Amino acid sequence: MANYRELLARVKEEIQEISSPAAQELLSSADAPLVVDVREQDEWEEGHIPRALHVPRGWLEARIEGLVPDKTRPLLIYCSGGSRSAFAAKALGEMGYEEAVNLAGGFTDWKRNGFEVTIPRVLSSEQRARYSRHLLIPEVGEDGQQRLLDARVLLVGAGGLGSPASLYLAAAGVGTLGIIDADVVDESNLQRQIIHATDRLGEPKVLSAKRTIEALNPDVRVRPYEERLTSDNVDRILGEGWDVIVDGADNFPTRYLVNDASIWHGIPVVHGSIFRFEGQVTVFSPGAGPCYRCLFPQPPPPELAPSCAEGGVLGVLPGIIGSLQANEALKLILDRGDSLAGRLLLFDALGTTLDEVTVRRDPYCPVCGDTPTITEYVDYVEFCNAPVGRR
Ligand SMILES: [Zn+2]
Repeated sequence: MANYRELLARVKEEIQEISSPAAQELLSSADAPLVVDVREQDEWEEGHIPRALHVPRGWLEARIEGLVPDKTRPLLIYCSGGSRSAFAAKALGEMGYEEAVNLAGGFTDWKRNGFEVTIPRVLSSEQRARYSRHLLIPEVGEDGQQRLLDARVLLVGAGGLGSPASLYLAAAGVGTLGIIDADVVDESNLQRQIIHATDRLGEPKVLSAKRTIEALNPDVRVRPYEERLTSDNVDRILGEGWDVIVDGADNFPTRYLVNDASIWHGIPVVHGSIFRFEGQVTVFSPGAGPCYRCLFPQPPPPELAPSCAEGGVLGVLPGIIGSLQANEALKLILDRGDSLAGRLLLFDALGTTLDEVTVRRDPYCPVCGDTPTITEYVDYVEFCNAPVGRR
């Protein structure tokens, strides 16, 4: 029966070791080994050797073959002082890894020599708890959550569609939300615009939305734009840099403006629209599918547009369509799944049916076509004075 020190001494005789300076030199050479860090999560988070693979000692045998299938690949194993990694190197040798070398003195000696260290970006314990259901999904995970936290989404309108879209994006941890809306909260909004509340009547919608979002998730920074989107301010606002635009505008002038600007700024737009019991969602992704003008090159003449008094919408409908918009925005940020680019989704609330129509980029499109005829912003006439996001 051997005690720990005897066991360690015996293991060290059976494995290869290398000093920090020799390892540093080897790592900058052409045949650099793969560095494997076998410490615990909290040790890893405090800093590690650059480009190291992290596999805690307790999981090493179970996970290493999945991560490093090639057993001829040279490995440099380290822990904090060189003991845990000695046992790890021995185990790897027994598993058939031909060259598992232990870093003598471990990470402590590496740092003492002043060699390069990477401090990983990590979620705080509060974020770990808040986003735990995202962290459990491999398609999101910690990397995806960091992407969401770094992401910037611009919402056009804080109304029916903007309410659910911004609430779900905020809950998901999208770090920056820009919200454009010049309107104030009106009693007739509250039947569907769930980001606002009765005690906010008369308050600018962007400020009401900011209050609700910041109460929901302190990780989210809201950039309110209490103005109507026009050809004068569109370049300034879009120029602040956005990953995705969620268009919840209910009027043609804004919709065309958002479309043209998004193409010229190269920002994908998640488009949503609603009318009575019907909703539509799609993604306009510059360079990767059609734009709004590919479908509708010009707005209808004012005399043919539906009068705003005939409007009206079932209160839950924007909740469904706005949530679908949030879903598309999250997928675009995470670069997962199939976006709705090239597909127009049609929802009928009365029949509870979803239909899909294929839409293609039009080479004769006046804005994104091969020979564009529209190269400057057009301010279309407002049909019935409905402010952005009124619906
Ligand atoms: Zn187009």
